[in-house]
Amino acid sequence: MPSTTSLVSSLHSDFPGFIFRESNEFHWSPRENTIFYDHTSDDCASLLHELAHAILQHTKYAKDIQLIEMERDAWDHATTTLAPIYTIEISHAATQDALDTYRDWLHARSTCPHCKATGIQSKKNQYRCVLCSTKWRVNDARICALRRYAL
Ligand SMILES: [Zn+2]
Ligand SMILES: [Zn+2]
Repeated sequence: MPSTTSLVSSLHSDFPGFIFRESNEFHWSPRENTIFYDHTSDDCASLLHELAHAILQHTKYAKDIQLIEMERDAWDHATTTLAPIYTIEISHAATQDALDTYRDWLHARSTCPHCKATGIQSKKNQYRCVLCSTKWRVNDARICALRRYAL
C-alpha cells in the first residue's frame, strides 16, 4: 500500500478542482472544498472515501438516516470506482466496521431516554418517541468524523 502522501500527489493532478490538506484526521469539508487527510497514515482507503464524498458533492443532510446513506454511497464509490484506478485495496470488513459505527450511533440517538423505544426524527436535531411522546435533542454530527469518537 502506498502512503497517503504519494496517493495525494496523484489525486491532486487527477482532481485539480479539490484542495487536499494535511490534518490529523480524515474528513471532507464541503464549505472549504477541501479533503483533509492524515499524512502520517497509510490509510489510503479513508483518503479515497473522503474523495468520494467530494465527488458525490455531499453537503447537507436533513435527517440522520441520510447521513448514513451518504456514508454508504461514499464507501461504494471509493470501493467500486476509485480503488481499482489507484490499485488500492479496500476490505469489505473495513467498510462494514465504518458503517456499523454509524448504525450504532443512530441507534443510540434514536433510543427514547424515557422508555427505550425507538423514536422518529422530527427535526434535524430532535427526536420524538412514538410510544410515550417524549421529545429529546441530539447534537450535530459532522460528515465522516464519527468514527473518530468513542460512543
Ligand atoms: Zn418513550
Ligand atoms: Zn464518510
